[in-house]
Amino acid sequence: MKDIIPVNGQFAMMELPYENLGQAISQNTLSFHHGKHLKAYVDNLNKALPGSGLEGMSLQMVVRKAQGGLFNNAGQVLNHTMYFEQFSPSPKAMGAKMESLLVRDFGSVEAFKKEFEQKGATLFGSGWVWLSMDKDGKLVVTQQRNAENPVTEGLCPLMTFDVWEHAYYLDYQNRRADYLAALWQVVDWQVVESRL
Ligand code: MN
Repeated sequence: MKDIIPVNGQFAMMELPYENLGQAISQNTLSFHHGKHLKAYVDNLNKALPGSGLEGMSLQMVVRKAQGGLFNNAGQVLNHTMYFEQFSPSPKAMGAKMESLLVRDFGSVEAFKKEFEQKGATLFGSGWVWLSMDKDGKLVVTQQRNAENPVTEGLCPLMTFDVWEHAYYLDYQNRRADYLAALWQVVDWQVVESRL
């Protein structure tokens, strides 16, 4: 993934690359999740940066180096940017390279999706389930709590589903597993593959 760079010491609010995501995520959820939750993380990140010693660094570097409130807000901005950017109402299908990597490391694409959904469904509390590539080029699925991102563990993050309740409660209430299963409809694999 390309580094996200601040302009004049401030990180910009990312724009959604689509107007809706059909049935998978409602307009209401998109509006609150992007317009309210992400907006608050961006505002709080920009308030916390001056004087932190991390001014001018890429967002990824801030996430690697920051602690406490600055880490939480920077992590949530990076996580949500990757989450919202990977979706499309008319998503591109998985390419041959990604398919062969998933088959190599999980046995099949279906086995990968099953593990990803299972780890998302069983993450206790708030957090994220991630597909990443490790230093040896192997694909791994990890659970990250709260604002954590796999970059802090030396992994290259490729795809994520948000399992904080604010991501799904308006549409799915307590049915987190149904939300996770529905998201595959809108994953744009060209975006995911561009992060390899
Ligand atoms: Mn969220």
